[in-house]
Amino acid sequence: MKILVTGGLGFIGSAVVRRILSSTTNTVVNVDNLTYSGNMDSLPDAQFNPNYVFEKVDICCANAVRRVFETHKPTVIMHLAAESHVDRSIDGPRVFMDTNIMGTFNLLEQSRIYFQGLDSSLKEKFRFHHVSTDEVYGDLAGKDDLFREDTPYSPSSPYAASKACSDHLVRAWSRTYRLPSVVTNCSNNYGPYHFPEKLIPHVILNALHGKPLPIYGNGLQIRDWLYVDDHANGLLTVLTKGVVGETYNIGGHNEKTNIEVVESICSLLESLAPIKPKGVERYRDLITFVKDRPGHDARYAIDASKIDRELGWVPDETFESGLQKTVQWYLDNPEWWGRVLSGAYRLDRLGDEL
Ligand code: NAD
Repeated sequence: MKILVTGGLGFIGSAVVRRILSSTTNTVVNVDNLTYSGNMDSLPDAQFNPNYVFEKVDICCANAVRRVFETHKPTVIMHLAAESHVDRSIDGPRVFMDTNIMGTFNLLEQSRIYFQGLDSSLKEKFRFHHVSTDEVYGDLAGKDDLFREDTPYSPSSPYAASKACSDHLVRAWSRTYRLPSVVTNCSNNYGPYHFPEKLIPHVILNALHGKPLPIYGNGLQIRDWLYVDDHANGLLTVLTKGVVGETYNIGGHNEKTNIEVVESICSLLESLAPIKPKGVERYRDLITFVKDRPGHDARYAIDASKIDRELGWVPDETFESGLQKTVQWYLDNPEWWGRVLSGAYRLDRLGDEL
């Protein structure tokens, strides 16, 4: 297969690309326009791989996306490109609407035109796999409630609303134009190559630098954590075995409060990085409670039984094993995050473009 991945230089997209290149003979066409969260350093070996092509293209640009389809003639699409950070969506929602809604619309339209021109055997193979989030479902009221594939949408943040809209667009193109599509909604991911603005890498790096570990509100918000390589594996399972028109929720079966997550990171660091920054006696002493995020959902939790029952996917990592791997990865890869924190990962890119 030739797999067109959008957003393949982001956190989850790069895990998907690494997995395809390392464990299959498929070809990847990576379409990414390198926003602040796209990072060439996250695919260090891909440029030497004959099965990999990079296209620096904005998914909102119809002509550029059409050219990519015409040039590469992909077998399937995995759509991950998005603006993905809730706090940024509260500060500046417009780009979320542009990329997540109009970008998805544009990709669907170009896919529809391309699909209609395929012969029947290629039509049979074609998939538009849309990668979305459990945040479209909003807040869970009951302690034992879980998000199922038929849970009504009730997004709280501009980010979640834009993703909800993109999910509706994909289903509409599937119903109206018979574009063969699958949608996945997953819980919070964590793991290597995660941009340091997100909770887990932010806490690891702040702790290593002796800076405060900020926790929104009382820290009792619950999230279901999914190790990124498990997610990548789940996405490829859905791509190859999922039924057209279906939605699959992907979760890690790891419900944790934010404060539990931060405390687990602190205790891992106590054993993995015992030499602390000056003035820090225990990492957990750096925990600081800050004003809660507006519209902050209290609990997300996924019922991932459908993908297990129908496609045989379950995550390999527990939260404990995945978090240990993650903390160790950040300790072993200061060059990757150092270049993010200093901004050098972007300056190099500007140099290339001049
Ligand atoms: P990310 O922010 O790390 O990466 C997004 C990538 O998309 C970047 O490489 C960026 O350069 C690219 N991009 C952004 N706008 C673009 C545009 N207009 N044209 C082309 N490329 C563009 O995001 P992520 O965490 O890897 O998330 C990937 C997908 O998974 C998103 O759709 C997100 O909504 C979804 N998701 C993420 C999580 C999570 O915990 N990270 C959870 C559920 C769902």
